[in-house]
Amino acid sequence: METILVLAPTEPHGPPGRPALDALGAAKDRGAVLGGADLRVGLVGGSVQPAARSIATCGAKQIFAAAGPDFSQPRYATDAAATEAVCRVAATSLVLAAGTARWSRVLPGVAQRLGGRADTHVTNISADCGKVSVNRWFYRQRMEAVLQRGQRPWFILVDPGSQPVWRGDAGNATVETVAVDLPASCQRTTVLGVREPTAAAQTIRPDAELLFVTGAGWTKKQADGQTHAVEAEELIRIFLQLSRASLGSSKSLVDLSGEGQAVLSFLSHLNQIGQTGATPRHPKGLSTCCHGEEPHTVGWRFINERRAISLDPNCGWARGKADVLYVADAFAVMAKVNELLASPANA
Ligand SMILES: Cc1cc2nc3c(=O)[nH]c(=O)nc-3n(C[C@H](O)[C@H](O)[C@H](O)COP(=O)(O)OP(=O)(O)OC[C@H]3O[C@@H](n4cnc5c(N)ncnc54)[C@H](O)[C@@H]3O)c2cc1C
Repeated sequence: METILVLAPTEPHGPPGRPALDALGAAKDRGAVLGGADLRVGLVGGSVQPAARSIATCGAKQIFAAAGPDFSQPRYATDAAATEAVCRVAATSLVLAAGTARWSRVLPGVAQRLGGRADTHVTNISADCGKVSVNRWFYRQRMEAVLQRGQRPWFILVDPGSQPVWRGDAGNATVETVAVDLPASCQRTTVLGVREPTAAAQTIRPDAELLFVTGAGWTKKQADGQTHAVEAEELIRIFLQLSRASLGSSKSLVDLSGEGQAVLSFLSHLNQIGQTGATPRHPKGLSTCCHGEEPHTVGWRFINERRAISLDPNCGWARGKADVLYVADAFAVMAKVNELLASPANA
């Protein structure tokens, strides 16, 4: 029978983050599917007690931890040493973790050390007659495959946002500390600090309810024969502030910015959605001034409810790509939306 270890890095002085709770949710759900597979949790971090207490009621048979100042920062050598040690002690056949940048970098290497295999970008785990399968998408989310593997341990990196997040009460937890042999060669890299955009400049918000997507139409000549880039930027900036939506873009608009035409100062190629961009997961999406062409909308695959505002009634959105298309001027619509969001009734 399969046994499952969920690996979770702890946030500084706090519980595991949302992606780790997604992986825990997947493991809890699938434990039953896998015939009541035993669940264990492995924590890695500077201080693991708050994290252990926060997941105490998840039903894990054991909670292992590699803890201490050496593990408080993401660093390949120490992360790999810690997870290798935890996996050896836990000795489970399946190892689940969130497919974050940190674990995606580390776990394939750990799988290699343990003679196992790793699969990334997993969106579903199922079992039939005791055989475990995982789903993942290929070719920029156009084809879905179902995979099985004979090798164990099998490291499964679950795409954040694809699983029901685990929620439960905090409680008392017993943590079994795992000793990690850390040679000096693992400590050559020193993390000096973190550089990140200020909260106001951070427009990519994976946890947002809404993905707000901007297209090249914001830069086009409008009914008065003029472009209105400054007004566009202001409308979008205010909407993002009020709604806390995540900002996406079509390739055309990102490319314009890259060519030196300042369109939206807070837009970068990281915002691009589509075949050569990102495929984010959000409950809702609103596209504005964008044509809805296939290479763009393929990036909308995991958006549950899609709406679009375009002046063109024959755009791609109208041809089955959106649930609702507003054939309207996005400048006027977003000005009204901002007004409503800012009204005291919505405060
Ligand atoms: C190999 C390949 C990969 C690609 N990958 C991607 C990708 O990853 N992501 C991506 O986005 N594209 C991608 N593309 C490009 C894609 O095919 C389109 O060219 C691009 O998405 C078009 O961007 P757009 O809709 O913003 O601009 P446009 O096609 O110029 O559309 C602008 C729209 O704005 C509307 N509009 C103008 N003013 C207003 C207004 N006031 N109110 C409302 N609507 C208005 C217009 O009616 C028009 O429909 C790829 C193309 C190729 C060949």
